Amino acid sequence: MVLTGRTPRRRRLATVTALTCAVVLGVMGCTAADSDGFRPGAADAGDSYVPGRGNGGYDVAHYNLDVRYDPTTDRLTGRATIAATTTQALSRFNLDLAGLDVGAVTVDKTRAEHRRDDGELVVTPHDRLPRGRPFTVVVDYGGVPTAVADGALGSGGFLHTDDGAIALGQPDSAATWFPVNDHPSDKASYDIAVTVPDGLSALSNGVPGPKTSADGWTTWRWSERTPMASYLSTLVVGNYRVVSGSHAGRPIVTAVSASLPATGGAATSLARTGEIVDFLASRFGPYPFDSYGGIVVADDRIGYALETQSRPVYGPAFFTDDRPNPGVVAHELAHQWFGDSVSLSRWGDIWLNEGFASYAEWLWEEHDGGRTAQRNFELQYAVTDWSQPSVEPGRERMFGTAVYKRGALAVHALRRTVGDDTFFRILRTWTTERAGGNATTADFVALAERVSNRQLRPLLDAWLVGGAAPTLP
Ligand SMILES: [Zn+2]
Repeated sequence: MVLTGRTPRRRRLATVTALTCAVVLGVMGCTAADSDGFRPGAADAGDSYVPGRGNGGYDVAHYNLDVRYDPTTDRLTGRATIAATTTQALSRFNLDLAGLDVGAVTVDKTRAEHRRDDGELVVTPHDRLPRGRPFTVVVDYGGVPTAVADGALGSGGFLHTDDGAIALGQPDSAATWFPVNDHPSDKASYDIAVTVPDGLSALSNGVPGPKTSADGWTTWRWSERTPMASYLSTLVVGNYRVVSGSHAGRPIVTAVSASLPATGGAATSLARTGEIVDFLASRFGPYPFDSYGGIVVADDRIGYALETQSRPVYGPAFFTDDRPNPGVVAHELAHQWFGDSVSLSRWGDIWLNEGFASYAEWLWEEHDGGRTAQRNFELQYAVTDWSQPSVEPGRERMFGTAVYKRGALAVHALRRTVGDDTFFRILRTWTTERAGGNATTADFVALAERVSNRQLRPLLDAWLVGGAAPTLP
């Protein structure tokens, strides 16, 4: 993500840390395991940065979403078919779902009991589910979706626009338009079918499928086969100039709001997507997904750009006055490796996303004839507040300078210390070995030490979390 420069509003943190299962059960008022060992899944992933988000007891493999959205009534109706496997013996489990009404829920084709508890959909299957059991949940739901009420990051969740809707947001947004295990630690593949009135575009993640029309409605189909964190899903409906083609043998779909200039800064920046992604692949290793693209929206409430998987979404302010801005494109495309393919396990490690994406901006700028990465490093070093840590920045600072710029400084300090060859070998080993999965800061340090055959923990500690300016390498 890149913000357009607004100061985030402070938000009180929930003081929940390192939830144990027992605490989760206590807080959520769940019952203990019965005599056969079956118990309810946790109602929370145990991540203090996003209390209440995610759930325990199962692992989703695939979401099949079939939604219809009518901009004239703002109503969305949907059916979510979720294929998962239990990770414990389950008597019941939760999905995250914000607002919206639930009609029927089935588990393995048998009607299941369900109830709502704030942002939770609590499902009690007819038959309890043993540990390691694959199962399929089908949820029929609908209503008028809502935004995420968190002022820290600008508007997120499901926004109704003049011509349609925009659903995206970090750290959570997916639960505003489908039932989901809404935490990046549970990645899954997606098939998304979106039915909208003829003439409107319905854009989402991944490879485009066949479009079909009937009775004044058109169904757009998208398929993301590589595991995706839920916050990286998006849905954009409206009047867009959609350009479809292929790049390096894979589909590339870009879309710019029809209310923005056809040859303005947004369009010309987005047109460089293939060129920029190829440059980044030359540094980070092969592009990790089956499709490329990007979407520029015109709604001012989207005060950021977000690296939604294979198809980032850019707010309009990045391209004010028709200025091209390939730097923001480089940032969001770098996330396809750092954040999307290799995802964080806990939000406290968000510098693993933003530090590398910010560093990619420096690499791109140097490649594009601007300032060198070394010069950007020196300028940033001079203005950095070393009292703020990059790792575990606190919920209110998860999109702060320490995560982005201090993170980038740490990346460049690593490069200066181990040399270019070893540095880029570390990055490519990271993006290869961890592709499609999750990782932590400790995982990165261990991998960098293994690849370089050097002790790097003290160096990275100093650059990421130390309280004083580190010695320049
Ligand atoms: Zn970012």
